[in-house]
Amino acid sequence: MQSVFSPPLHRQRHQFVIDYIKRTKPQKVLDLGCGECSLLKKLKFHREIQLLVGVDIDGAKVKKQMHGLAPLSTEYLQPSFDQLCIELYQGSVTQRDARLRGFDLVTSIELIEHLTLADVEHFSAVVFGYMTPSAVIVSTPNSEFNPLLPGLSGFRHSDHKFEWTRAEFQSWALKVCSEYGYDVEFTGVGQPPPSQQESVGFCSQIGVFHRLRGRDSGSMLFGDGADDEFSYTLLCSINYPSLRDNNILRRVLVSEVLYCAEKLKSRWMEEKTGDGEEASTMCLGEGAEFLSGQHVEEELTACGEGMKSPVEQCGRAVSDDGEGEYDDLWTKGQEGETFNRHVSVPLDELFSCFPRVSELSGSLSNLRLLLMDSPEVKLSQDGSAVLIAYQDPDREEEEIDNNIEDSGYAEASHCSYTTEQEEDWEENV
Ligand code: SAM
Repeated sequence: MQSVFSPPLHRQRHQFVIDYIKRTKPQKVLDLGCGECSLLKKLKFHREIQLLVGVDIDGAKVKKQMHGLAPLSTEYLQPSFDQLCIELYQGSVTQRDARLRGFDLVTSIELIEHLTLADVEHFSAVVFGYMTPSAVIVSTPNSEFNPLLPGLSGFRHSDHKFEWTRAEFQSWALKVCSEYGYDVEFTGVGQPPPSQQESVGFCSQIGVFHRLRGRDSGSMLFGDGADDEFSYTLLCSINYPSLRDNNILRRVLVSEVLYCAEKLKSRWMEEKTGDGEEASTMCLGEGAEFLSGQHVEEELTACGEGMKSPVEQCGRAVSDDGEGEYDDLWTKGQEGETFNRHVSVPLDELFSCFPRVSELSGSLSNLRLLLMDSPEVKLSQDGSAVLIAYQDPDREEEEIDNNIEDSGYAEASHCSYTTEQEEDWEENV
């Protein structure tokens, strides 16, 4: 049937649910008769929802579409603190399953008209009597609207077992309320022409049910064993990446810390090369104090006081090794000895200068704890700073030359040169 509504009626029904969710912020939402998961695909973006479950009797239909519920690559790259788990089940709403109890909201959009009237009774007992959600949204066609739908004869869909008038729907809904302790408001989507609003009503009629406080819970009604029934088949369970997962938090924090520390390091190095006198004087002055302690890794140079930018505050250079001679900011090993050089970036500077680092870690002590167990991060001995490997550009060339000399290649070329000389010399003699 051609759509006579704009936006189309199915979208208006889903929008009704979305608007309700925006207002009431449920954490656990269950969609009965989820079909092609189109409502679930919209709801997964509502991050107040922590558990989103879909059930349909047609497992093949669900499986065909469920890939659309997988996290996007950006959700892996930039996870949020929100938590979301999506579960999909194959099963009938006429049967009980303990995993579907206690939801904040259950939706049943254009489902009940696909059940026999006997099964509608089972649906009522299962949903309102056993699952006992805080709220239920039920939508179903309003048969009074049918004469306004062009070209329609009979029901709106060949699988419909009935289509109710407003009075029939309301009578079922009020009976449910009195049996299971709910109240209900009637509304709908799909407006008729203004002159026929009263006489015809909405194209899709909707009942919004709320559980009355103080009523017996489902387990009281069903007795012991109500929580042991598992009749549905789990098709998939998707856990969205969340920063509440400690491993994910650590991974994201580590890459943020390394990024920020590298940024500070290169800005500091720019200053060192651009305005070398000032930087090395400042750092050496502070470091000299430390050197008397003969513990190079802990502190060589410290932050300058009264400086404004993070990089100005945070330039420190350290070596992996203990003793050494200093020609400027950097350490030298004893003759023939090599060791790595590092810039030391204090954690408290990272915490105070970079909002994302403080947001992720929550506190300075937590930042230290999370980094301590991360093999990708090298901390100073007292755990107060991140050590970032440093390659002094002036020395890079020198080191490459040294390395070549130390290598077998240098020896080999030296040998061959000598041999050639000897041959020449022999020739000359
Ligand atoms: N709720 C979806 C929506 O709004 O787009 C799909 C509605 S579709 C018209 C009805 C769905 O109910 C179908 O996917 C069908 O397989 C499902 N269904 C029918 N009988 C069911 C039952 N006893 N238990 C669970 N799902 C059922």
